[in-house]
Amino acid sequence: MLEVSREPIRDLAALDTAHHLHPFADMKELVEGGVRVMTRGEGVYVWDGEGKRYLDAFAGLWCVNVGYGRREITEAVVAQMDALPYYNSFFATTTAPTARLAAEIARLAGPGLSRVFFTNSGSEANDTWLRMARVHWATLGQPDKKIVIARHNAYHGSTVAGASLGGMKHMHEQGDLPIPGIVHIGQPHWYVEGGDLSPEEFGLARARELEEKILELGPERVAAFVAEPVQGTGGIIVPPASYWPEIQRICRKYDILLAVDEVITGFGRLGSWFGFQHYGLTPDFCVIAKGLSSGYQPIAGVIVADRVADVLTNQAGQFHHGFTYSGHPVAAAAALANLRILEEERLVERIRDDIGPYFAERWGSLADHVMVGEAVSTGLLGAVQIVIDKATRTRFSRPHDIGMIVRNFCIMRGVIVRASADRILVSPPFIITREEVDQIVSTLRAVLDYVAAELSSD
Ligand SMILES: *Cc1c(COP(=O)(O)O)cnc(C)c1O
Repeated sequence: MLEVSREPIRDLAALDTAHHLHPFADMKELVEGGVRVMTRGEGVYVWDGEGKRYLDAFAGLWCVNVGYGRREITEAVVAQMDALPYYNSFFATTTAPTARLAAEIARLAGPGLSRVFFTNSGSEANDTWLRMARVHWATLGQPDKKIVIARHNAYHGSTVAGASLGGMKHMHEQGDLPIPGIVHIGQPHWYVEGGDLSPEEFGLARARELEEKILELGPERVAAFVAEPVQGTGGIIVPPASYWPEIQRICRKYDILLAVDEVITGFGRLGSWFGFQHYGLTPDFCVIAKGLSSGYQPIAGVIVADRVADVLTNQAGQFHHGFTYSGHPVAAAAALANLRILEEERLVERIRDDIGPYFAERWGSLADHVMVGEAVSTGLLGAVQIVIDKATRTRFSRPHDIGMIVRNFCIMRGVIVRASADRILVSPPFIITREEVDQIVSTLRAVLDYVAAELSSD
């Protein structure tokens, strides 16, 4: 193991702030505040260059699902690099791990979803199905059926198409987005937007916005609808039970392709292999990334339904799309080893039957706190909505500030969580123990107690 002393870590941090432009960062703030250099990981823990240990309740960035330090994955990567570090899949060639991984993903996805297009990131995967959907309808003689309906406060990545499909206002404001042909409808976020409706009524109302939008645009012009089964970056927003069945009905009725973005929910996080299985949906595209390799290598893709893949393979001719590293053999080897761990250790079943229910109970216990409007969870995703007044569901006037304060105190106390405005999010590794769940919950409660006390003394 590389031992890093304090002095070089400071140098590294200085090099970083001088030369490294970070994703999703205010660089001026980052240069002033400095960076934390992460050096090591084992299980659910990571260490920074100062030797401080953190319980990573966010699994890196929703991805290190099997935990850090898995030798099986490292060894699979090394073996593949020795055998063949790279070959492309453009010119009627493939590699062993790429072929095997495609078959494994198809097996896990189940009937009707037997093909995979590989990319390097979730963003690229969203770009990929967007083009594929339009090619699909054009091939069937409907070139005008090309508009995609997405949702406000969704996250689908940072490429031009990905950020356009996403519904983040602050992202649209930068770079003249969304691109033409992408429109947005409301999200099923009952706590903040549900008003006097019951969650079930609200879920139906938000689903029916899809039908209204399709009728307004004309079904012959709408190619697809895209959504995350559970919004992740937007705040871990679990839709009311009425929402998804109605969305599925509407997509079928108007012959609109359904794209589920399972970059977070795919590969077990909800206690099923995929969120579409959890919600009983039949998607046409399923976007996969993060959990596919538990972040050990960058790899992503789109699982394509047979009804779409058949048109593409039999009628469309060449699909002029792909990436140099599509199906990269080393990344595919990492993903295969990751999937093997998930199956052999029955980690998905563990979420469904054991740690998921335990997490739900412990996380839900935060709901009695004076600052908590709701404490929701599904599988191993949990969110706490911070409020100033529970009875009226009133939020702080500066939601980002209160969220960052709570997040920062949690990290100072050694538990890594994330804030999405005034929601505190966790997405722990699947191997987390009951004691570690308790530690996350007690740390967050202690921070909320502290912040509440400070606020009332002001
Ligand atoms: C992270 C994420 C993406 C983007 O994936 P990248 O690999 O960062 O491009 C897309 N969709 C969802 C739901 C995500 O959480």
